[in-house]
Amino acid sequence: MSASAANEVRCADAMRSPKIGCQVMEPRAESTAAPRVYLETYGCQMNVADSETISAVLHRAGYVTADAPETADVILLNTCAIREHAEERVLRRLNELARVKNTRPEVKLGILGCMAQNNRDALTEKAAYLDVIAGPDSYRRLPEMLARSGFDPSIDLRLDRAETYADITPDFAPGVRAYVTAMRGCDKFCAFCVVPYVRGRERSIPPSDLMREIRELAARGVKEVVLLGQTVNAYRFEDTDFGALLKMIATIDGIERIRFTSPHPTDMTDSVIDAMATVPKVQPYLHLPLQSGSDRILAAMERGYTVAEYLDLVARVRAAIPNLALSTDIIVGFRGETDADFEATTALMRAVGYDAAFMFKYSVREHTRAYKLGDSVSEEVKGRRLIDLIAMQEEMSASRNRAMVRREFPVLVEGPARRGGGMLAGKTPQYKTAIFRGLEGITAGDTVTVRVDSATGHSLMCSLA
Ligand code: SAM
Ligand code: SF4
Repeated sequence: MSASAANEVRCADAMRSPKIGCQVMEPRAESTAAPRVYLETYGCQMNVADSETISAVLHRAGYVTADAPETADVILLNTCAIREHAEERVLRRLNELARVKNTRPEVKLGILGCMAQNNRDALTEKAAYLDVIAGPDSYRRLPEMLARSGFDPSIDLRLDRAETYADITPDFAPGVRAYVTAMRGCDKFCAFCVVPYVRGRERSIPPSDLMREIRELAARGVKEVVLLGQTVNAYRFEDTDFGALLKMIATIDGIERIRFTSPHPTDMTDSVIDAMATVPKVQPYLHLPLQSGSDRILAAMERGYTVAEYLDLVARVRAAIPNLALSTDIIVGFRGETDADFEATTALMRAVGYDAAFMFKYSVREHTRAYKLGDSVSEEVKGRRLIDLIAMQEEMSASRNRAMVRREFPVLVEGPARRGGGMLAGKTPQYKTAIFRGLEGITAGDTVTVRVDSATGHSLMCSLA
């Protein structure tokens, strides 16, 4: 992989969203009068979940889905601001979509989410044709914003500490797994990260709303829920902490598996570890972002833990939860990262032995605490470090997966495998993709036992046991 292609990398199959835009609105009954909306999503799983809420808000207001921008009355992009690369992609896409607006000037074009919140001035300058600019706490007001007409765009970027959208049931995508937002925002303010500035402060959705929503999902045949939040294990609503929430959700009949992402290492309390260890429905998979294996860089990043504390946590979760799979996030080339710091990261990754990792080149973000310090590591060095890290992780993922050969696992069937040919795909409890030949009568939502025959870094080839 070239250094430029390796700007952001998904290594092995962890619980993340597609990086490409995806359409999430489900078609409703045809109506010639109803305005048609096309929605594209960029970024993390939180954004995909937000798009499901946006979709619900617009359907309630009478909009129906358009399958393509060319047939839409309204085109919306729900965006990500985490790295410059993500923003550049959206700007390129906006330029493409401007052509639709040139041919049909009555089409409304809107930009939503983190990039809208982060970049209002640049957007109004670079994309003067935008009709709507709405931040992550403004989705409830989208119908009024779209109804407004005028030369200037309708802009709503109010961050609202009370907005949780708890009363709006998202238009969940069909499937055996549903992603449910448990908390919004972030209070951690890591030096490199724009999230607290674009998504606002931490707030948790009341357990009663989550229970109602997940019961409805179970009644629709959903078997697995993934609880979402930027620091999901910081969840707290009155007396209910995240460990207690996991235990409550486990009481819902029909829900067989519970996962969550992303937890923050400093919020991995005994209560959360206890829920993972004692509640069989909570799956043995933990995404535990590390960012760097150097204490100096961790301190500069203001992550709130040292290498020793992180390793102690890994030891405690591994002791408590047998067969736990671990994945992580790493940033290479943060300001001040020397070769020795980078080597400390590779050494720590080897020591932990992650099943998967998401690895990124540091991208300086305006508004963050590290912004004024700028960049000290060249793009070339970042690229080289990233390539080395990816190669090491690929090897490690493959070796950890190969260690599963000849073992048996329960797999929740998701449907036909992409490779076709009668093969089915699903996940093991450790969130590894298992591919196996189906049998008549086995369908999505079933749990079957498979034996692993062979493995790559990305999947397990299995047979029904
Ligand atoms: N809240 C989670 C945590 O604390 O680890 C992560 C959420 S963040 C949206 C996802 C990942 O993006 C981070 O873990 C980090 O590795 C990466 N990231 C965030 N800001 C970045 C930046 N400025 N440059 C490169 N990667 C970044
Ligand atoms: Fe960003 Fe840090 Fe919050 Fe994660 S915990 S979203 S990296 S500020």
